[in-house]
Order: sequence, then C-alpha cells, then structure tokens
Amino acid sequence: MPTTTRQIILKQRPEGWVTTDDFDTREIELGGPGDGDVLVRAIYMSLDPYMRGRMDASKSYAANFQIGEPLKARVIGEVTASNDDTFHPGDLVFGMLDWADHTMAGPAAGLRHVDPALAPLPYYLGVLGMPGMTAWIGMEMGDPKPGETVFVSAASVAVGQIAGQLGRLRGCRVVGSAGGDDKVAFLTNELGFDAAFNYKTAPDLLTALEEHAPVGVDMYFDNVGGATLEAALDHANNFARFIQCGMISQYNLERDQMQGIRNLTHINRKRIRMEGFIVGDHAERLDEFMGQMAGWLKSGAVTYRIHMTDGLENAPEAFISMLKGGNFGKQVVRIGDEP
Ligand code: NDP
Repeated sequence: MPTTTRQIILKQRPEGWVTTDDFDTREIELGGPGDGDVLVRAIYMSLDPYMRGRMDASKSYAANFQIGEPLKARVIGEVTASNDDTFHPGDLVFGMLDWADHTMAGPAAGLRHVDPALAPLPYYLGVLGMPGMTAWIGMEMGDPKPGETVFVSAASVAVGQIAGQLGRLRGCRVVGSAGGDDKVAFLTNELGFDAAFNYKTAPDLLTALEEHAPVGVDMYFDNVGGATLEAALDHANNFARFIQCGMISQYNLERDQMQGIRNLTHINRKRIRMEGFIVGDHAERLDEFMGQMAGWLKSGAVTYRIHMTDGLENAPEAFISMLKGGNFGKQVVRIGDEP
C-alpha cells in the first residue's frame, strides 16, 4: 500500500487566463484508510472547462476549489485498500478524486464501479461519462426533428463530438464549427457531420453559417457563446431552440471584457427558445444514458476521440492548453498504468 502521494494544489486564484503559476505540487503522507474510506490509485483523470469557474472565488453551480487544497477531477482508478464493504483491492472505480497519484476517498467521492469489458476506460470520462451525458441531455432538450439543421460549436471536442453525432442519428443536417482544419476534416470525414468550418479562419461567422447551413439553423447546441452565439442568432430560423451548454469563449475574461450579445431581439422576433442546463441536475438518468450510449458505441453508431496527455505533472499545462483549444478530442491525463 502506498504511504505517500503527489498532489497538485491550487496555489492562487487566477486573474484572467490561468497560468502554471496558479498550481503547485506537494507530497503528503497518506495514512491508513479510516472507517468507510477507500484508497484509489489514479489511472486516468478528466480535465474539463467547468474547472476554470471552480478556481475563482465567485460562486457557481460547482463548489469553489480552495487555495492550498488539491484540485478535484473525475478520475478512473484502481482500489488499493478499502474499509468499505462495497469496494475491494483490484476493483476499477470512477469518482470525484484529487489531482493526485492516490486519493483517500470518502463518501463525497461518489465512487462507482466501472466495467472495462464495456468500453475502454478513458471513455468513462468522455462519451460514457459527464460530457457524453451533457450532449445527450442537451440534444433531448433541443429535440431536433429529421431534416432540421443542427449547429454545434466546439464540435470536435468532449461534448460537441457527441452532440453532433446524436443529431445525425436523429436524421438532422448537422453543421459544426471548430478551431482547426484538422478538426473540421475530422467532423465531416469521420463523424458524419454534413458540413463544418474553421471559425478561426472563416472570413466572418455569419457568412460561414450562411454557406454551411444554407436554410438556417433550427437548433443551436452552444458550447462557446460570444461571437458564435451572435452569428447563430442572426442565422436562426423561426422557432429555433438554442440550448446553452456553455460559453467557453468567455471563461477567462474579466467581467468588463466579456462580450455582450447585441442581437437578442431575435429571441422575440424569431420566437426562439433559449434554455440553459447543467448535466448534474439529471443525475437520476445516468443509468438510462449509459445503457443507451453503450449500445450506440457497440453498434458503431457513435465513435469517440480522446486527447491523451501523459503524467500528472503535465496536468496544469494540459488544462490551460485545453481552454485554448489545444485538445483534439476529449482531454484526459494518464496518471498510472492500467492493471
Ligand atoms: P473541451 O474541454 O473538450 O474543450 C474546450 C474546447 O473549447 C477547446 O478545445 C476549443 O476547441 C474550444 N474553445 C476554446 N476557446 C474558444 C473560443 N474562444 N471560441 C470557440 N471555441 C473555443 O470542451 P467540452 O466539450 O468539455 O465543453 C464544451 C462546453 O460545454 C464548455 O463551454 C463547457 O463549459 C460546457 N459544458 C457544460 C456542461 C453542462 O452541464 N452544461 C457540462 C460539460 C461541459 P476549438 O479548437 O474548436 O476552439
């Protein structure tokens, strides 16, 4: 049983863009598991945009990270010691654990078993985990009908690649935006998007939408907010649904730098329904989601791309890179070997 572990802690709250100076690494003694505790060796760790909000002092839907304390993430790991009858050494589990090689997990970690026979382990952090369920819930809320046009931003990464594929399975015309030509080619060549464009090199976003979604947008799955949201509102059809999943283009901006949306009048004139959601509000549907998504994966109806970074020590840089679009697929950090 390990007696010490490396942990990555929040050193200070970022102002604007996160930098590696905001993180620190320390080594701590682990001690033995207390009553109900489970010691977990990390194998894969998920990095997600919502963690940026948790680094701030201001309140959001997820609890703030505390200065001097380890950051938390969804982690797949192996039980190495346990004082909980449900978990035994050698079990593969999933839970909200520390950015660390080992975590002494109590009930707050929400540990669950994972089945390596069902899917590759990193999929439990992506297509079969929180991002996949986010796409599944959001597409259900937008409820696009066959033949309608669905537009997905940040389409090549964790949530967007699933949202687009679910639109395709519903018989919709799916259009994606992404920040690279390789990402755009992936959307049309490998995921079955009908059209895609690089928002970084497009002459302007509205023209790109007019070209790639010529009959307008009936549902927008918004991952980015900002200028893309504004263009989507301009190009929306009457009675469009705008499902507000996230606004990553604004996460590293101070309030006075944030981009106001100037054409909200379309919501009324075009009778648009705009609705936000947080996937955690739908936790009771996790088993239903996993069953359906596992079926699609097995049949090949849905595929998934992972962006793997090796080494806990590289997690801060991978996190910053992900916020800037450096990931191509779901960002995962490999911390230890699979058994
Ligand atoms: P990823 O972590 O996989 O990647 C983030 C991606 O965002 C980058 O790769 C980049 O892709 C894109 N991006 C970064 N900056 C910008 C920008 N200025 N303009 C446009 N795109 C940008 O993202 P996820 O798929 O995990 O998350 C997508 C969104 O979904 C986020 O807003 C996130 O907060 C939200 N979310 C919401 C949930 C909910 O419950 N509502 C749950 C999970 C996620 P590119 O190269 O294409 O620019």
